[in-house]
Amino acid sequence: MGSTNEILAGNAKLLKSRVSKLSIVGIWISIGAIIIATITTGYFQANEISLESVIEAQKNNASLWLLNTMPFVFGFWGQYVSSMIAFEASAMVVDQTNDLRAQAASFERSKIAILVVDIDRFKDINDTLGHSTGDRVIKQIAQRLRKIIPEPNTVARLGGDEFGIILKKFGTKEDAAEVVQTIKETLQVPLKLEGVRLDIDASIGITLYPEHGKDAQILLQLADVAMYQAKQKHCGFIMYTTTLDRCNTRRLTLMGELREAIINNELVAYYQPKIDIKTGKIKELEALVRWKHKVHGLVQPDDFIPMAEQTGLIKQLTLWILHESLMQCAKWNDEGFELGVSVNLSANDLMDVELPETITRTLDAHNVSPEKLLLEITESSVMLDPNRALEVLTNLSTLGVRLSVDDFGTGYSSLSYLSKLPVSELKIDKSFVMGMENNSNNTVIVQATIDLGHNLGLEVVAEGVETASSISLLQPLGCDTLQGYYFTIPLSAQEFNTWRSQNIATGRIRKKEGQLYMMLPEK
Ligand code: C2E
Ligand code: CA
Ligand code: CA
Repeated sequence: MGSTNEILAGNAKLLKSRVSKLSIVGIWISIGAIIIATITTGYFQANEISLESVIEAQKNNASLWLLNTMPFVFGFWGQYVSSMIAFEASAMVVDQTNDLRAQAASFERSKIAILVVDIDRFKDINDTLGHSTGDRVIKQIAQRLRKIIPEPNTVARLGGDEFGIILKKFGTKEDAAEVVQTIKETLQVPLKLEGVRLDIDASIGITLYPEHGKDAQILLQLADVAMYQAKQKHCGFIMYTTTLDRCNTRRLTLMGELREAIINNELVAYYQPKIDIKTGKIKELEALVRWKHKVHGLVQPDDFIPMAEQTGLIKQLTLWILHESLMQCAKWNDEGFELGVSVNLSANDLMDVELPETITRTLDAHNVSPEKLLLEITESSVMLDPNRALEVLTNLSTLGVRLSVDDFGTGYSSLSYLSKLPVSELKIDKSFVMGMENNSNNTVIVQATIDLGHNLGLEVVAEGVETASSISLLQPLGCDTLQGYYFTIPLSAQEFNTWRSQNIATGRIRKKEGQLYMMLPEK
C-alpha cells in the first residue's frame, strides 16, 4: 500500500512542478509582452525610444495597465492550479488507498475450496451393470456437476469415480458447505439408464485455501483424506481438520508397521468360545486378531483391519491368522481338547481365487481336518461381488470347510441369493442381540432372523451375549449358539488355557470325551 501512496504523491508533485514551471514561463512571457508593448506604444506616441517615452506610455495607456496585471494573473493561476492538483491528488490517494484496502480485505475473506467427490459403491455399478454403463454414469455425473458449478469454478475428473472441484470466491465455511449440499442433492437425483433407475450418492472431502495449505497438491491430498473419512463415517461430506491429518499420519505409519508386524510375529490370536445353547458345548473358538504394538500396546482389530483391507495387507493377515489358529487347533487336539476354530475372512479374501488352495495347504501343514475349520464371511463382503463370492465359497465348501454368514442384518443380501450360498451358519449381528433387552423391535428382528436361518437349514448364532437375561430371551426364540462376554471376552491361547483350567476346577466347565461343556444359567 505504501508504494501506491508514494506513486500517487510523486505524480502529484510532478504535476505541481509542471504547473509551477508553466506559470513561471507565463510570467516571463507576460513581462516580455509588457516590455515590448510599452516600448512600441512609447515609440508610436513620441516617435522615439527613450526612458521618457516608455514612462509616458505606461502612464497614459489603459491597455498596458491591463497587460501589467498578466504576470500576477499567471502567478496566481500557477499557485491556484497546483494547490488544486495537490488537493485532488491527495483525495485520489485517499480514495485509491481505501479501494485497495477493501479489495485486499475481500481477497482475504474469499477463500478457495478444494473438493474431492467420490461416488459411493461405484464398483457395485461397474460389477453388476458392466463397465460401459459405469462409463455412462460417470459422464452423466460430470454433466450434472458442470451444470451446477458455474465459472470461474472448475470441475475436473481426477480418475475413476473421483472428481475434483475448485470453488473460488466464497465467503465463509458455511457458504462452502451450502455448495457441497447442493452438489450432494444434485447427485442424489436418481439416474435413468436404459430404463434402469440408479440411486447415486457421493462422499465429499473439503479443504480450504489458504487455511489448510498453500500448495495445490497438498490441498488435494488433504481433501482426499477428508473424503476417505466421510466415506468411512457415511456422513456425506467432511471438511478437513488437523485431527484428521493426525489420524492419517498414524494410519500411514501403522500400515507400514503392520507389514513388519506380520513378518515379525507381533500379531496375537485371541479366542472366544461359541457355545451350544442346549448342551453348553463349546462348538468352536472364534479367532480374533490383536496387534501387540511396541508403542501403542494392544491395538484392537477395528483400528487396523479396515486399513489392512484397503491397502491389500489383509491377504497376508488372513494367511497369518489361518496358520496361527490352525496350529493352535492342532495343539489343543494333541492335548486332548477337540476344539474347532472359526476364522474371519474379508471381502478381498473372497476375491482371491487361490484362497481354496491356500486353505487346503494350511490345513495339510497342520494336519487339521477341514470340518474343524469354519470361515466367517460378513454379509456385506459377500454382496460386494455376489457372483465371484459364490464361486469362491462353493470351492471352499467342497473342501469340507464350513462357512458362516457374519454380522447378519447389517448388509443387504437377498433371500434368494442367501439360499444359494453353501453356508451352514448365520450370525446375528451383536447390535440386535445387545439391544434386545431395551428394545422389543430387536427381539422381533432376532426372532425373524432365527426363523429365516432355520428355514434355510442354517444354525443361528447370537453374538454379543453379555447377560444371563439375554440368554433367557434367546432360548425360547430357538437360537442355536451363543457367543459373548457373558461366557468370556476373547482370550489369548495361554489365557484361554488358564481360564479353562480354572473353570474346570470350579465346575463351571465339564470335560467329556475331549469336548468342553459350559454351565448355562438356570432357566
Ligand atoms: P466380529 O467378527 O463380529 O467379531 C466379534 C466381535 O465382537 C469381537 O470384537 C468380539 O470381541 C466382540 N464381542 C464378542 N462378544 C461380545 C459381547 O458380548 N459384547 C460386545 N460388546 N462385544 C463382543 P473384536 O475382536 O474387536 O473384533 C472386531 C471385528 O474385527 C470382528 O468382528 C471382525 O470383523 C474383525 N476381525 C477380528 N479379527 C479378524 C481377523 O483375523 N480377520 C478379519 N478379516 N477380521 C477380523
Ligand atoms: Ca466374526
Ligand atoms: Ca460378527
